[in-house]
Amino acid sequence: MAYSLKTHSNKELEAKADEWINKIAAAQLPDGYLNTYYTLRGLQDRWTDIEKHEDYNAGHLIEAAVAYYNVTGKRKLLDVAIRFANHIDSVFRMANKPWFSGHEEIELALVKLYKLTNNDRHLKLADWYLQQRGKGYYKYGKNWITPGYWQDILPVKQQNEITGHAVRAMYLYSGAADVAALKDDKDYLNAMQKVWEDVVYRNMYITGGIGSAGDNEGFSTDYDLPNEEAYCETCASVGMVLWNQRMCALTGNSLYLDVLEKSLYNGALDGLSLSGDRFFYDNPLASEGQHQRKEWFGTACCPSNIARLVTSLGNYIYGKSDDGIRINLFVASNTNIKLATTDVAVKMQTDYPWNGKVKLNIDPIKKARFRLYIRIPGWYQDKIVPGDLYTTMSNSKTSSDLMPAVNGKSVHYSYENGYAVIDREWEKGDKVEIEFPMEVKKVIAKSEVKANRDRIALQRGPLIYCVEGADNKEGVWNIIVPANTSFTTTAYKILDEPVVALQAIVPSAFPDVNGTSVVIKNRKITAIPYYCWANRGPNQMQVWLPAKIKTVKINYDQK
Ligand SMILES: [Zn+2]
Repeated sequence: MAYSLKTHSNKELEAKADEWINKIAAAQLPDGYLNTYYTLRGLQDRWTDIEKHEDYNAGHLIEAAVAYYNVTGKRKLLDVAIRFANHIDSVFRMANKPWFSGHEEIELALVKLYKLTNNDRHLKLADWYLQQRGKGYYKYGKNWITPGYWQDILPVKQQNEITGHAVRAMYLYSGAADVAALKDDKDYLNAMQKVWEDVVYRNMYITGGIGSAGDNEGFSTDYDLPNEEAYCETCASVGMVLWNQRMCALTGNSLYLDVLEKSLYNGALDGLSLSGDRFFYDNPLASEGQHQRKEWFGTACCPSNIARLVTSLGNYIYGKSDDGIRINLFVASNTNIKLATTDVAVKMQTDYPWNGKVKLNIDPIKKARFRLYIRIPGWYQDKIVPGDLYTTMSNSKTSSDLMPAVNGKSVHYSYENGYAVIDREWEKGDKVEIEFPMEVKKVIAKSEVKANRDRIALQRGPLIYCVEGADNKEGVWNIIVPANTSFTTTAYKILDEPVVALQAIVPSAFPDVNGTSVVIKNRKITAIPYYCWANRGPNQMQVWLPAKIKTVKINYDQK
């Protein structure tokens, strides 16, 4: 609600938020504790079971309070959050206190609170939570007693591989990156980089989704990335966006944004229906038609998480460093950025991700020299993902093929950490144009990913494509996409969503009239952006398409 009010002022929505905030405040106990499960069921049991998400829920409450205060200036929920944080701090933050967070999230929330209150207590509590891991406190959970499930095998600063529950992991590492940034802690940063490589190099789907296994809602073994059984929780993709933004801010390297963008446009956005009111909890990469978005879930993390990601998209588009402005994502928008030398109004116009043309108006209040960093997307340079778990067979483009122009004239730029950097004196009315041509990329996975052997996936710009039954009545399991297939793009509509679809003529396998032999016929197939699938009733769907007949299923009947 707060994020939405920031961009879409709405008195009715704000009144509803205030009404709820009054109720939340009234439920807080005098000592600051706030969790109605235990208030109603017996306070003597509070803080006895790490699985009960008391601090996870506190974390989300704190985040909401900070967001609502930042947008409206109203303190009521913020004061509730501060009292609750102080209560937790007084109960827990002491040496050898046998407790940790059973579902991380409060760490990053406390850092947000600290940035507002400047009260050292809140940053220390965030760091305390991080340092409680790796001491065996996972035993205070009543189920799931494997330490890996809770990222509790080693202290966070010594961790080097991803384990366990995917959403827990993403929140933990986002919090660790936040604390690393504020405390300039290299140990956290080094651990984050090792764990990140383990995620991206060996355990991430082409959609930027993570956590392939349903039984632990998380990671299994390296390269175990099944498609139809993919768990890929929406919250885990949202978590990838949170974590990768922080890693970019910490290092200034845009390769984290390549991963962020992949998760944002594919794994996360798939969690939301085009109508905006149906949600996926798990996001498979293939379906027989058994997967449909639902109105709500008993555990309702994903609907609220995707709602806040979409409403807070503005937080991810721009960045700044001491020496200038960073264009991190390409989204039509405008903002004001304060540099040491001047304030700068920035306006971006673009139809990205449908085409790669980007126009920027750079309007400093007064003439000033600074650097404009424009991210060069990894996909443009045929880098499908950092670490090459997925690669493309397309022709390579390099950063030197780019021709950015300022006020209509091409300009000199340098290439740094994945950004084109234009360093000049800027003045009001300056216009920058840049274009990243979009081609259809045919992507293959490392052979270690068994599920994708002899298969290809399609990517155009940041979007991953799929083939869905609604557009392909003669089946999606029986097609063969040979390596030399060429795809054309076409303007297309999924319900009322205008998209760019991909089309090609490809061979398909059908049973003959007697059902005793196979006939191969050429036909046209249409591929649509993955995030658009499952909006037109139960349908078959595949992201990874057979490149050889051995991965084809002949039975093409729609369920
Ligand atoms: Zn979720």
